[in-house]
Amino acid sequence: MSVEDLTRLGIFLVTLTVFCSVSGHKYNYDNPSEWNQEYETCRGNRQSPIGLVREESLDNTNLPKLSFNNYNLPLSMPVEAQNNGHTVQVKVNDVVDGGRPSVTGGGVSEIYEAQSFHFHWGSQNSKGSEHEIDKNKYDVELHIVHKNIRFANLNEASNDPSGILVLGIMLKKWQFIPTFRTGLNAVYDTLPYLSKYDSTQTLNETITMNSILSGLNTRQFYTYNGSLTTPPCSQAVTWFVFKDVVPIQSRYLKRFWTLYDSRNIPLLNNFRPIQERNDREVLYREGRRSTQ
Ligand SMILES: [Zn+2]
Repeated sequence: MSVEDLTRLGIFLVTLTVFCSVSGHKYNYDNPSEWNQEYETCRGNRQSPIGLVREESLDNTNLPKLSFNNYNLPLSMPVEAQNNGHTVQVKVNDVVDGGRPSVTGGGVSEIYEAQSFHFHWGSQNSKGSEHEIDKNKYDVELHIVHKNIRFANLNEASNDPSGILVLGIMLKKWQFIPTFRTGLNAVYDTLPYLSKYDSTQTLNETITMNSILSGLNTRQFYTYNGSLTTPPCSQAVTWFVFKDVVPIQSRYLKRFWTLYDSRNIPLLNNFRPIQERNDREVLYREGRRSTQ
């Protein structure tokens, strides 16, 4: 091996190390069905997303509604959005008095603290939600990721079957201009600055987690046991996918299509295809906005 070869090898190893430490898991959306070659769990039997169908779900009128704690309080600033090469991710800070936004109820017995939220989208020609509701795909799916407070971090939580709770929210393209802003508008405002991989941008207004829920009816949902929808596909997630949808203006939807991944390739269609439900039970809670 020549000096030149050794130099090249050195540069390669340094690049590899930096890449792996920055991006965590290395994967892309060229062919999600091949993730299981490197990540064994991606071929497991409680994978996500799945198709949610009302007729195939168990109506459970006794299921308690979800309770949202500290969702009404502003997050401490600065709140940062990042293009991590797979999605736009926003870190959920402590709320202003030092507590954390959390979720309880919905049939789970423990407390889950919000960690971050991110989006899955399509392209000009395709819709990008991960779950389907009654065979319908939506334009964007927002995931709010929570970890069970028994665990120190998400990594540890991902090794436990009840370690993680994710709220799935469908965003649907809307032609009308809404008369009010939600917390999501503050996130959409960062997108023009996030086109490059690993770029970050601070939200320029305060948000609460309620403002991210955007007035959604949280009493009507599907819930089932599944997995992370990205490698390593850990089977640690209790899913709550809401039936109600949040509108997204067409001009904001288009901004998601302007992002690039770590290879400098347009980051489009960053959703995993539907997985087998197998023998899993899906529960449905029919909660009307005004009554329950
Ligand atoms: Zn997700």
